[in-house]
Amino acid sequence: MTYDFLIIGGGITGAAIARELTKYEAKTILLEKENDAGNHATSANSAIIHSGHDPMPGSLKALLNVEGNKLYDVLEEELDIPLFKNGAFMVAHNDEEEKVLEKYLGRAKENGVPGVKILDAKTARQLEPNLVDSVSKVLSLPTTKVTYPWEVAIAMIENAMDNGLVFAKKKEVNIIYREDNVFTVKTRDGSTYKSRYVINAAGAYAARVAALSEEAVPYRITPRKGEYFVLDRRVQGFLSRTLYPTPSEKGKGILMVPQYHGNILIGPNSVYQDSPDDVSTSKAGLSSVKAGAELLTKNIPYHKNIRTFAGVRASSTHGDFYIRESLQKENFIHVAGIDSPGLSAAPAIGRYVVEAIIMKKESLKPNEAFNPIRKHVKLFDDMSESEKEEAFKMDNRYGNLVCKCERITEGDIVRHIQRNVPGDTIKGVKKRSRAGAGLCQGGYCEHQVMKLIARELGKDVTEVDYFSNHSNILKEETKVKK
Ligand SMILES: Cc1cc2nc3c(=O)[nH]c(=O)nc-3n(C[C@H](O)[C@H](O)[C@H](O)COP(=O)(O)OP(=O)(O)OC[C@H]3O[C@@H](n4cnc5c(N)ncnc54)[C@H](O)[C@@H]3O)c2cc1C
Repeated sequence: MTYDFLIIGGGITGAAIARELTKYEAKTILLEKENDAGNHATSANSAIIHSGHDPMPGSLKALLNVEGNKLYDVLEEELDIPLFKNGAFMVAHNDEEEKVLEKYLGRAKENGVPGVKILDAKTARQLEPNLVDSVSKVLSLPTTKVTYPWEVAIAMIENAMDNGLVFAKKKEVNIIYREDNVFTVKTRDGSTYKSRYVINAAGAYAARVAALSEEAVPYRITPRKGEYFVLDRRVQGFLSRTLYPTPSEKGKGILMVPQYHGNILIGPNSVYQDSPDDVSTSKAGLSSVKAGAELLTKNIPYHKNIRTFAGVRASSTHGDFYIRESLQKENFIHVAGIDSPGLSAAPAIGRYVVEAIIMKKESLKPNEAFNPIRKHVKLFDDMSESEKEEAFKMDNRYGNLVCKCERITEGDIVRHIQRNVPGDTIKGVKKRSRAGAGLCQGGYCEHQVMKLIARELGKDVTEVDYFSNHSNILKEETKVKK
């Protein structure tokens, strides 16, 4: 069979393009090299839906960030995704930084960001009492939001699958060629696919994937790491809004970001590196994060830090997002250089690829059966008393508390294992249900989650991956019960 569209990369960008394509009558497949969607940059970022105050006016980043920010409100309705509409402050400490606030106020207005204004220190401190004493003014960015990026990517793919998308994971594309107007795409496990279009949404690997198809790739990806602290959700109340410093040539700087579930993220720094895979954290990197955060709030409760992590931005030599049809291979579409604000822009990137690129060449018929609605899996702890009673009557596994920190039951975990993009790794379950996302970071429940995955999917526990491919914790049986 020949697909109309083959998308490479199951991060938020590929997911958004895939969902957009299922609004039309077309055969679409999404290939992902990992064992789950969203395992790269989409799983390791600040989770902010930026207002659009930062990108240069006239750039694709500016256009798609502002539009994407609005589209998240639509996605909240349609896909039932987590969205925390908490706004943001960019903080200044002196005359020079206040001039930077003025500059970004002008830029935000030029980009069409609503509601932006500068507030004096007294007003800002009434709203955010933990701001450092040296703050002199802030730029208020009320349309800034926070989401839960993994869940958005997975929700988009699940909804797209309900509308006809084929999603295949553990499929690393390693060969692409075009003959008689059809692409042949091969993956490392020996599978072969045919498609009229190929859409490259491979994140930090986009240049490598492009090089499979073209001789001269028109951009280079320069991976840029960002490290973070994660504070436990019991710090809720310390901060309401996202805090940005005034930006530097290195980017937006070290931020403090209250998360949807109550945790606070502190980071990221900005370190260029050769590898798109290196997500290690370092003492020096985390010290630079601490130093940056000191400019934002006082008395940061680092004793509530539960983990550190890092993500890698797919920054490119092009500077702006590089979204266009290849100049060398017809019907090969680059969606590259999707660093920040890629998460914010993703829903608009999906539309742009379909409406501004593909529809210029193809007259796609609307899919009359397209259903935009998807419901999230409600956790037992979030249910009303009557819902809990009903749920328990239907499945008494809701009575077995597996993750004590986040109060996640066996019934919850089983439902996340059974989703149409299943949580079939330990971190896949954590991403979806938050089992293991609390104070003990899975020390108590990880082995139970592993057993539940094995039981539900009819696997041996040694076959259950922790996160990436071949990351199984148990390697072999060492004692056999007679
Ligand atoms: C530290 C950091 C902080 C950030 N903060 C924000 C923020 O607050 N707000 C914001 O808007 N943006 C933010 N971003 C940017 C945002 O996270 C990214 O723009 C977005 O996640 C990119 O998504 P993607 O789908 O393009 O890439 P990815 O999520 O990296 O997905 C690409 C996918 O392609 C797959 N792939 C690669 N090669 C192949 C192959 N050969 N075959 C099959 N599959 C392949 C990968 O496995 C991966 O799953 C941040 C990024 C980082 C790293």
